[in-house]
Amino acid sequence: MGVVVQKFGGSSLRDADLVREAARKAIRAKHGGNQVIVVVSAQGNTTDDLIAKAAEMTARPSAREMDMLLATGEQISIALTAMAIHDLGEKAVSFTGPQIGIITDDTHRKARIRGIETARLRKALDAGNIVVLAGFQGMNRREEITTLGRGGSDTTAVAVAAAMKLAGADVECEIYTDVDGVYTTDPRVVPDARKMDAISYDEMLEMASMGAGVMHSRSIEFAKKFDVPLVVRNARSDAPGTWIVPESDWMREIPVCGVALAADEARLVLEGVPDRPGVSHQIFAELANVNIAVDMIAQSAGGGGKATIGFTVLNAERDRTLRTLRPIAADLGAVLRETGRVTKVSVVGAGMRTHTGVAEKMFAALSAAGINLKMITTGDIKISVLIEEDEAAPVPAEPGEPPAAKVKQAHLDAQKAVLGRKALRAVHAAFGLAQPRKGAGVPADGSFKPRPAPLVVPGVRDREAAVARLEGMEDVLVSSAQLNPDQSRITILDLPDRPGNCSTVFNAVATGGIVVDMIVQNLTAPGKAELSFTVPRADLTRALKRTQDVVRLIDPGCRVVGDGDVAVLFVLGVGMRTHTGVARGMFGALADRGININMINTSEVCVGVVVDAARGEEALACLKEAFRIE
Ligand code: ASP
Ligand code: MG
Repeated sequence: MGVVVQKFGGSSLRDADLVREAARKAIRAKHGGNQVIVVVSAQGNTTDDLIAKAAEMTARPSAREMDMLLATGEQISIALTAMAIHDLGEKAVSFTGPQIGIITDDTHRKARIRGIETARLRKALDAGNIVVLAGFQGMNRREEITTLGRGGSDTTAVAVAAAMKLAGADVECEIYTDVDGVYTTDPRVVPDARKMDAISYDEMLEMASMGAGVMHSRSIEFAKKFDVPLVVRNARSDAPGTWIVPESDWMREIPVCGVALAADEARLVLEGVPDRPGVSHQIFAELANVNIAVDMIAQSAGGGGKATIGFTVLNAERDRTLRTLRPIAADLGAVLRETGRVTKVSVVGAGMRTHTGVAEKMFAALSAAGINLKMITTGDIKISVLIEEDEAAPVPAEPGEPPAAKVKQAHLDAQKAVLGRKALRAVHAAFGLAQPRKGAGVPADGSFKPRPAPLVVPGVRDREAAVARLEGMEDVLVSSAQLNPDQSRITILDLPDRPGNCSTVFNAVATGGIVVDMIVQNLTAPGKAELSFTVPRADLTRALKRTQDVVRLIDPGCRVVGDGDVAVLFVLGVGMRTHTGVARGMFGALADRGININMINTSEVCVGVVVDAARGEEALACLKEAFRIE
């Protein structure tokens, strides 16, 4: 018998009618021949109200007591949901996280799941019950109650599904929320955004980190790691929703499946960083030590032995980041700058691995909209650009948008991101994302619900072997390291920081049929940008010539430098962003060997670096050793 895990969020349990609707959905799944586990969040704004109550007592509540308090929100929901199921004539039993054996680490309010016991769950299910389980909570090994961080019930649901799967069940996880599914972009900003029928785990991870807001990133990481098929559906309807599943062939035909906006990040830049082994490690290890997660990192080549490292952190972490880095910057003789409000716009698509021209098209659309790019990074399946918002810009209201008081903070930020919203619309239109396509309005492979993956697929085997070595279920997973040895790098120094320049450069390179792999752009001196990218070594001469010709037209003062022998190295995995230590581990391993990093690029599922070609194999071997990849 299959196991269905259904998760209902706070807004889907706001009142008695909605709780009854959730109960009905659970009963229907049971009558469909499944064993059913329902994971619930606290009703409506309960968690916020509890936080406010604590604030009435003290400005500094103890973390332990805070978790004791917050966990009560979900406890109300489990009891009410079980009662509603009883009232409709079915058997149900409720459990808290600690009762079921959801074991976490010790980090109150941000705990990570280490493991889940399934014996009690199994027993209750086998006795014919619908099990109603509190999301967001667990206990550490000293039996203290912990919570998983805001929005953590998604993570509970997928983790429980994963644990049942590991225990041999055939599982599926349904996430019920207040939207119909995952859209090509935020429909509140772009009204013609299209609902997708299916999206891959990696695409969803790259979208979710950017405030797409539909699901907690950590839950998608669980789904990918343990191969749990997920579907996001509307709690108030029977619409089919969006499947989040392993990547399949048809997805690789689609270069861009979605565009996302993140408006809650701050950009920091370190200029004049000595270009020698170990420096990036020193910087990012320090941030990891104080648990600051860095999002976009762009290190560009730099002239005269100096590099520029730009990166973003959450706005809320900006001051702490500045404080942490000031002494290091002084030590390195580098200048630390922070810039104004920034917005990040990213395009995501599995097809980017094989399709070219995506960056060029994105930059052209932004250039046509008169939008200037402050920083660029590219990942395996994502390209992100950073736009600087004008503080003084007015905030136009969109017709039909919900009143500000009702929307989440991230959305409020997004509303203020005037340029970001404009960019989002321009890019969404340029890729024709409102049109029906496979996986978004047009059927692809029949059913999106995946068949269990065959064990012979090497990627799957690698991941399973890596998962088997994890100590905690939620530990970061680095499943493969790859080397692309035959690359060259081109760097443009002193490129004027004006809309359209990147677009012009990549257009010139692309019309020569040259495939650009990694792109990094940083601002260096005021009004000047430094743009680096890699091309296949065989194309270097042609690419260099095309770049020089076009750059001369932009500004005869720019310099173009070609570097013939570089290698691109990247590690792929799960949890690369939510865990602070991956970049530290990667940069640290290279620093220990004295291998210099020339360029860095990060995304949710991939961290890439450029090193000298002569040391490529050695670098690959040392990363495999560092991350215990066979
Ligand atoms: N109740 C918790 C929160 O509001 C967990 C959740 O909703 O997923 O953050
Ligand atoms: Mg909630």
